[in-house]
Parts: sequence; C-alpha cells; structure tokens
Amino acid sequence: MDIDRLEKILKDEKPYRLRQVRRAVFHDFIDDWSQATTLAADLRKKLNSQCPLGVKNKLFISADKKTIKALLEFADAQKAEAVLMRHRDGRNTVCVSSQIGCPVGCVFCATGQMGLRRNLALGEIIEQVLVFSRFLKKDSGRITNVVFMGMGEPFLNYDNVVAALRLLNSPDYFGLGSRKLSISTAGIVPGIEKFGREDWQVNLAVSLHAPDNALRTKLMPINKVYPIEKVLAAVDDYIAKKNRRVMFEYLMIKGVNDSEEQARQLAKILNKPLYMVNLIRYNQTGSYYPSESDTISKFMQALLDAGLTATQRYSFGHDIKAACGQLAAQ
Ligand code: SAH
Ligand code: SF4
Repeated sequence: MDIDRLEKILKDEKPYRLRQVRRAVFHDFIDDWSQATTLAADLRKKLNSQCPLGVKNKLFISADKKTIKALLEFADAQKAEAVLMRHRDGRNTVCVSSQIGCPVGCVFCATGQMGLRRNLALGEIIEQVLVFSRFLKKDSGRITNVVFMGMGEPFLNYDNVVAALRLLNSPDYFGLGSRKLSISTAGIVPGIEKFGREDWQVNLAVSLHAPDNALRTKLMPINKVYPIEKVLAAVDDYIAKKNRRVMFEYLMIKGVNDSEEQARQLAKILNKPLYMVNLIRYNQTGSYYPSESDTISKFMQALLDAGLTATQRYSFGHDIKAACGQLAAQ
C-alpha cells in the first residue's frame, strides 16, 4: 500500500473523509475498498484502482498455532517475512522486517547471509502489520505490540522505520502506545543517537552477543566500526536523555560465548542501572549450535549473582522457521 499516494488522492477530500478512510484501513482493517461503505462509490472505485489494499502473502501456521509467519511479496517480486506471536497472556506481538536481507552480515544470522537486497518502503513495513491485523480480526483479536526484530537492521533504514513507528503510535492510525513498540539494533551508533532525540518512549534493544571486542568482531563484523565501548557510550547518552531501560540481547551459542567466565566478563561491562540482559538461545541456521539449557541457566545465574537484571527469551515458531534469526524469505 502506497501511503503517500493514498494521502494525495484524499488531499482534496473533506477532512472527515480522511478520517473515515483511516478508520476503515487502520481500525476496521478492510482489505478491499468495496468494504468501505461510508465512502462514495466513485471514490471507492478510484481508490481500488489507484491504491489497492490487497497484500500478496502466504501464511504459515505453527503446530501449536501460537506462531504465524507471513511471507509477503511486493510489486518487484522481492519478498520479506513477518511473524505473529500469540502469547498466553493475550498479547499479540508482530515482529516486522525493516529490510530485504541485511548488509550487516553477522555470521550467525540467516538474513545476514543474504546480504542487502533493498530497504523496505514505509507502506511495505505497514503492510506486514496490516496482514496480521486482518488475520486477527477474524476472531476479534488485535495486535498489541510490534517489534522491529525481523529481517534487516532498522537503523540502516532509519527514516522509513521511524515513519512506520509514527503511524503505529498515532491515534489516527494504529494507535499503539509507544511503550508497546520496540526496535532492535546491531549497535549502529548514529542510529542510537538519533533515536534518543525522538520525542517518544519506544523501547530500544541492542544486540551485543559477546563480552569482548575480539569475539564480537568475529561474530558481528560491524563491531570494527562500532566497538563495544562506543555502543555503550551511545546507550549511556540515550539513557541519560530518556531515563528508559535498554535491553541488551545476548545470543547463547554453544562453546562460543556461553561460558561462566564470559558471563562474569559480561556482568562487568553491563552492571549499570537501567541496563537489562535478554538471553536468546541460538536457533541453528548455519555452522553454530545452541547452548545447552543448563549452560544457559548457569550463565543467567552468574549475571543475576552479579546484580544484573537478566531474562531468557521464549522462542516461538521453530517448526515454521519463524524463530529469531531464521527469516530468509526463501
Ligand atoms: N538487525 C537487528 C534486528 C533484527 S535481528 C539486530 O541485529 O539487532 C533480532 C535479534 O535476533 C538480534 O538480537 C539478532 O542477533 C538475533 N538473531 C540473529 N540470528 C539469530 C539466530 N540464528 N538465533 C537466535 N537469534 C538470532
Ligand atoms: Fe542484520 Fe541483525 Fe541479522 Fe546482524 S543479526 S545480520 S544486524 S538482521
């Protein structure tokens, strides 16, 4: 859906028309303009031909029905994936992609191995949320949270990602509270700096994955440009401005970054107020293996013993290749 074109078509209409349209698309989640019965027939026809609402997509549903993956296909035949996670407590979280592929090239990540195909447009990011909004509407469900943790590095498509967050947050569009929105970055320092200047409370997560620069560079080559101390300095500035918690994501990769000594090293650099650590069991996509459960427990205990706030991420949708780092849109 081309949101700029939509606003252009409606530019000469009365303001209440714009409100009706936004309500139909972002609240009632229609998927064809013929369903917008409040609009005049000729306007519906014009919108159907100039700004169609259909999104070409295929859904994959996990055996336990808690995870649904959408493979979206765009006008140029490029594809991206998004994932809906239905939590037991009633939250419905959508994990969206910001790019097709990713230029950052982390060695453990399936998306990173694709390289960058292109950035996603604002409308293409929004379509990922619309697909699931329409899906949930069928049993009166609604999306409650959106996380930018799918394919791509959100801070390398900053303007479109921030524009999408504005629409998700705006009461005229999706109306999701900014605290229900999260973004994860591989530690792109200029992005963290810019994000700290936005006037909202969107959650920030930073992928760390190693307690020292040598290992982090091996896993995430971007560490040569933005090493740990620079990332942490940018996070400290962000916290000073926002007074918000920042989540550090830490993958648990067998025999690579999961020893108790490494936990103690990590605790040393992350032992600050408003820092929290989220451990993610590695989902195998290439030549690395996930840590054993009791290795993860020991690692977490070492962080807790050192006084840190640490949690472990629940993993959704293995059977449909929808878990963290498994998105490759094949
Ligand atoms: N590019 C951003 C956001 C997308 S990735 C970033 O890297 O932060 C979201 C999270 O999934 C990141 O923490 C990423 O490191 C992690 N991830 C990547 N590959 C994974 C895998 N195979 N198993 C588990 N998590 C993975
Ligand atoms: Fe890109 Fe994030 Fe994957 Fe790294 S982990 S390659 S930054 S999507």
